[in-house]
Amino acid sequence: MGRLDDRVALISGAARGQGEAEARAFVDEGASVAVADILDDEGEALAGELGEHAAFFHLDVTDEEQWSAAVAATVDRFGGLDILVNNAGILRFSAIRDTSLDDYMRIINVNQVGVFLGMRAVIPTMAERHRGSIINVSSTEGMAGLAGLVAYSSAKWAVRGLSKVGAMELGSDGIRVNTIVPGGVETPLVQSAGIDMDISGWFKQLPLGRIGKPAEIAALAVFLASDESSYCTGAEFVADGGLTAGFSVDM
Ligand code: NAD
Repeated sequence: MGRLDDRVALISGAARGQGEAEARAFVDEGASVAVADILDDEGEALAGELGEHAAFFHLDVTDEEQWSAAVAATVDRFGGLDILVNNAGILRFSAIRDTSLDDYMRIINVNQVGVFLGMRAVIPTMAERHRGSIINVSSTEGMAGLAGLVAYSSAKWAVRGLSKVGAMELGSDGIRVNTIVPGGVETPLVQSAGIDMDISGWFKQLPLGRIGKPAEIAALAVFLASDESSYCTGAEFVADGGLTAGFSVDM
């Protein structure tokens, strides 16, 4: 028996990276998954590989109408919607003084507004069944700042607020809302961020001494999607290899 048997999930940004790992883990645990992304070829290929319990739907998370269409298509295909993972995100390094309003808003629109639109889009169908788990993906940059990530960090702080308000408003509808806070995870997001640094070398400083793997975030998402987390809402679940545990000194 799977931990997500008979559940239906929509995962934004699921064509690759952590979203892909979540789609694989959810199907392994018995769920049906709507793989939603702007990367049509990668998304179609993943859904094809996962088989009859997955389908790809094009979704730009900044677009209200595409959210309505993706939710309707998911319900139409799988008969309901129990789980939303607001996972889609983009990251660009740029100092405040070099960041145009357009640059800033591009990141806010995907990483923050996209989460708001996703939550709002699934409320009617989840409330009707009095059952739902919404999982919003923040970041350790949503718990502290990182120079060069003004828009990203702002949006990731906002995601924690969106989850808290969602939890307060939706508990009485049977909908739980929680936040995953990943630290560094080895995905195309990090690999293409254009940071001039030895990424794997930097992560050696962490208590766990390495960068995270997408499957380690997916495991947390399975827990939050399942009834194992039935008393958790409005909470934040950090998976960062100890990044936010503190500082160390030479002894
Ligand atoms: P990724 O780049 O591998 O995957 C992100 C996915 O989001 C891609 O498939 C991309 O096409 C999709 N996407 C981008 N814009 C979109 C849009 N407008 N509409 C729909 N889909 C869109 O990155 P990832 O590392 O897997 O990131 C997943 C989430 O985890 C993001 O929210 C990211 O901010 C967060 N996160 C990542 C890390 C990390 O170190 N990788 C750390 C903390 C938080």
